Amino acid sequence: MEPLQWIDDELGERQRAGLLRTLPPPLTTAGAVVEVAGKSIINFASNDYLGLAADKRLSEAAIASFHQQGVGRGASPLVSGRSMVHEALEKRLAAFFGTEAALLFPTSFAANAGIIPALVGMGDAIYGDEKNHASIIDGCRLARAERHIYPHAKIDALATLLEAGKKYRRRLIVTDTLFSMDGDLARLPQIAELAHEHDAMLMVDEAHAIGVFGANGRGVVEHFSAAHPKLPERVHIRVGSFGKALGAAGGYVCGSAALISWLANTARTYVFSTAHPAAVSAAALVALDLVDREPERRRGLLERAAELRERLTADGWNTGRSESQIIPVILGSPERTMEISEKLRDRGIWAPGIRPPSVPAGESLLRLGFTAGHTGEMVERLLETLKKVRRSE
Ligand SMILES: *Cc1c(COP(=O)(O)O)cnc(C)c1O
Repeated sequence: MEPLQWIDDELGERQRAGLLRTLPPPLTTAGAVVEVAGKSIINFASNDYLGLAADKRLSEAAIASFHQQGVGRGASPLVSGRSMVHEALEKRLAAFFGTEAALLFPTSFAANAGIIPALVGMGDAIYGDEKNHASIIDGCRLARAERHIYPHAKIDALATLLEAGKKYRRRLIVTDTLFSMDGDLARLPQIAELAHEHDAMLMVDEAHAIGVFGANGRGVVEHFSAAHPKLPERVHIRVGSFGKALGAAGGYVCGSAALISWLANTARTYVFSTAHPAAVSAAALVALDLVDREPERRRGLLERAAELRERLTADGWNTGRSESQIIPVILGSPERTMEISEKLRDRGIWAPGIRPPSVPAGESLLRLGFTAGHTGEMVERLLETLKKVRRSE
């Protein structure tokens, strides 16, 4: 038998189960409206929440940096790959979040995969929400610590696990702050209270929340800290991405100077990976400025997302636990989900179907990413088209 025959077999099995994924047609740029195969389509399939991904100010900063700093860095940041633009972004990030220091990673997937094993190992324990992002799950797998997974948002279950686990050397609680498929928030004040009580480290991932949540767009930690002023100091490790609301690419972590120094020494995805082009950091710097200078991008976004959710619910769709700009339309079966997604696409609406293993079996959904670029008219089109598609079922 051919050594790779098993791949054909496995792909066939996925196809029969309605779980085979195919890549969508490639796009020129991101945006609320995109061209797909010569047709314009309303795009609810991105995380470009502030509408910055195709902003000229980001690309101009990147172009200027390409001219000055070139493309490749030639080495990992620890060797010689770190440019002055990377350093400027790290300083800006630390100031932005009010932490002592910050460190850049090639992506936030790489950040999670590298940071968690750098913090806990043999004899330690990790506590994580079952719906944490794949990169957190992989980071936990790479760490040789014992893993304790609690049911989604069940703080009592986390408390019980912590109570029963006093024997470990070090303990780390890790959670998404805004869950990427359900669109709901982690109960950070309660989680931070537990971490404090049990002397556990607390690491949060704000990938979908930075730029959107909080009075100043700092994320869910800021959102809750108005009522819980001790929260920021109780979150020890803050990870996030430039690839979503900030319209650029790359990951970061913010925290104490000692933490950052430790990670620069020991996080393998930092130490053994080439620094990203300085141009990426140049674009990210502009994006952080725009979070401060153009608050109107985030103001109203969550209110308009809430309106869309209410309209969807009134039309009989199930939006689950969403309380953010991430709005799932939960349909259950993967076949029905893909069928509705395709019918929407034929009618000019891009709402990607999400199936296992990205969501648990029986929870297939259309994932709507609501962004600053979506107008009222686009929302009406979405709601109308969904109704039409249901009538055609
Ligand atoms: C998307 C996402 C990531 C990965 O971010 P990239 O910068 O795109 O690698 C990490 N964590 C969470 C919670 C995410 O949703």
